[in-house]
Amino acid sequence: MNALEHQLSYPLGDQMPEAGRTLELAPGVRWVRMRLPFALDHINLWLLRDEIDGREGWTIVDCGITNDDTRAAWEQVFANELGGLPVLRVIVTHMHPDHIGLAHWLTQRWNCRLWISSTDYNAARLASSSTTGFGGGSAARFMQSHGLSDPDSLEKIKARTNYYASMVPQVPDSFRRILDGQAFAVGSAGAKSEWICHVGYGHAPEHMALHNPTLGLLISGDMVLPRISTNVSVIDIEPEANPLELYLDSIERMRAVPADTLVLPSHGKPFRGLHTRIDQLRQHHDERFAEVMSACAEAPHSAADILPVMFKRQLDLHQTTFAMGESIAHLNALWLAGRLRRTLDADGVHRFTV
Ligand SMILES: [Zn+2]
Repeated sequence: MNALEHQLSYPLGDQMPEAGRTLELAPGVRWVRMRLPFALDHINLWLLRDEIDGREGWTIVDCGITNDDTRAAWEQVFANELGGLPVLRVIVTHMHPDHIGLAHWLTQRWNCRLWISSTDYNAARLASSSTTGFGGGSAARFMQSHGLSDPDSLEKIKARTNYYASMVPQVPDSFRRILDGQAFAVGSAGAKSEWICHVGYGHAPEHMALHNPTLGLLISGDMVLPRISTNVSVIDIEPEANPLELYLDSIERMRAVPADTLVLPSHGKPFRGLHTRIDQLRQHHDERFAEVMSACAEAPHSAADILPVMFKRQLDLHQTTFAMGESIAHLNALWLAGRLRRTLDADGVHRFTV
């Protein structure tokens, strides 16, 4: 939780769209909120009034996970909020299940195209059709090599082979690629304005935030959230990755977006204070780096040893797997910057020391 949240402002106060309804944030830009069956219990999705190929309608940004509850909520939105117009395209910021989950259903239901970065499209197809890298034995071995030793947890991670596919059973067969810096017009005929893609690394393979300078809006996806810090994890398919450096560099580049922009995050409420939030996130990770450095200066630590240093609360298995990913991300960043040394000990565990 962000202890400095009071430095941000929430221009809508506690106003929020009800289930199955939308809330207009700017002309032709509407906020949709869907339930999620996790500790993080909601996701924000966006509707943009649009016109494509001479047809008036709507663009959807992000989809929610695949389940009956989310499908039913969309049907309510379609009945209540589209003014009888069709959905013309589906844009997905990144490949995580709460964002791309229902893209297959939405694009089939409306016979329209998915727009997404190429890397995230391909990563989603891989994750949805195989267990490679996203769970199962390989993830368990990876966490074990970073010191997770509880046999029950390892057994459960090993068994969780269907995690992604359960929320993303299918990914559309085709897509339209979006690239960093690409601008495209959205709006009804005669009232269009440009949205510009901002690439972000470290949270997902090739996350796209969308900035509209005319309307003063940034759809930030998961790259900048007001209340929680974005998950930045190392996973087993790229064990020596440095996602935290990529993430911090990415949010630095977001300072190009004006400070008074209204940020539309995937979780939490629309807020102002983008540059302040970037400062806070940088400070948050600097504090974690300092804690990790001082722990490793006292004795060699594995990523599992670091968990109680970085996370002061009790973690369940789901939280532990995320926390392990984050712990390894901080250790890898310090190791790859030459500030920590890494050893592979006789017990097969990586430990880090100054
Ligand atoms: Zn995400």
